[in-house]
Amino acid sequence: MFRISQFMRELAQARHTGAFPVPRRGTAPAGPVVIWNLIRRCNLTCRHCYALSADHDYAGELSTAEVFTVMDDLKAFRVPVLILSGGEPLMRADLFEIAARSRAMGFYTGLSSNGTLIDAATADRIAATGFDYVGISLDGLRTTHDRFRRLDGAFDRSVAAVRLLRERGVKVGLRYTMTALNAHDLPALLELMRELQVDKFYFSHLNYAGRGNVHRGQDAQFMATRQAMDLLFERAWQAALEGRPEEYVTGNNDADGPYLLQWVQQRLPRWAPALRERLAAWGGNASGVHVANIDNLGHVHPDTMWWHHDLGSVRERPFSTIWSDTSDALMAGLKTSPRPVGGRCAGCAHLALCGGNTRVRAQQTSGDPWAEDPGCYLRDDEIGATPGSDAGRLAVLPFGPADHARRESRHA
Ligand code: SF4
Repeated sequence: MFRISQFMRELAQARHTGAFPVPRRGTAPAGPVVIWNLIRRCNLTCRHCYALSADHDYAGELSTAEVFTVMDDLKAFRVPVLILSGGEPLMRADLFEIAARSRAMGFYTGLSSNGTLIDAATADRIAATGFDYVGISLDGLRTTHDRFRRLDGAFDRSVAAVRLLRERGVKVGLRYTMTALNAHDLPALLELMRELQVDKFYFSHLNYAGRGNVHRGQDAQFMATRQAMDLLFERAWQAALEGRPEEYVTGNNDADGPYLLQWVQQRLPRWAPALRERLAAWGGNASGVHVANIDNLGHVHPDTMWWHHDLGSVRERPFSTIWSDTSDALMAGLKTSPRPVGGRCAGCAHLALCGGNTRVRAQQTSGDPWAEDPGCYLRDDEIGATPGSDAGRLAVLPFGPADHARRESRHA
């Protein structure tokens, strides 16, 4: 996750005081943030769902007792954060029991929901449970969102959920995944965020997993992505100057770090070297290192976009053992610094800042997880490469027969 607002606040402070703030040095948590898909069932079938969820039960999901056993291991492994996700996690009967235990154990506890099942009574329970954060997915204004979510009325229900949660003092974020089909709604959504007094806006670039992979041909083109980032940077900068508590974060494209550096080089050049240092400390993509995923059946993955790559089951080995095992070639590569990336990423001047970006996009489009990330929207002249060599880039072709065959062979 790339925390734009955090960097903007530091820049605003630097401009005000004349000194870039010294980074807080704490004890780094040993364990990763765990995004836990507790249930695959969902009342919606969204176009970009990485879990390919549907509205029916899935056999073999972890029981409450099994979840609790895993939680004990996660705690001992010093995992700091649990994000309870799905499917739609509110469809799991023991969700509040799990969340209450998570809170009691001291995990920062988040909930990722589509919001359509949150009525006043459920909002009361969410508030009473003490979730630290609730992310509600909103992919555009009414017409766009309902088309994405394939449900008339989904937008109104999700917005109602946001209002109910905010009225109860719950910290809420909007989660938006941009594609060519909803990029036009971004400015209005940002206004809606402010109107609803939402705390956080999570902008996700499209990743190529599940239905997001099938629809990758509609990924927003590079220019639209750059315009969206310019808008977010400007907004986060103004919010930082005005002292607004709004948070703007992005995910699934770590080229956002170098792109922010360019923005600062043009706008606040005095602070660019300090920011570069800070971005290098952040390090870019964290899959397999600081971010982990457990799916509904208890299988561990480097992150939520790697469901087609199984590291092992928590029913057979503790999460802590699976996560520390680098006999898996992908995990060994993800934990290597710098990562063994190829193509234009290998010679990129910003590799230390972005970490080679999102390996699953490289793998889904080329079959090689260490190829260049085709979702990088920086030009060759911006990464220190020979101008014009863009022509040799990995192309993002629409999901086709070869991809179907690759997916079928994985499921065979
Ligand atoms: S070329 Fe690769 S390493 Fe460089 S910014 Fe883009 S994705 Fe990151």
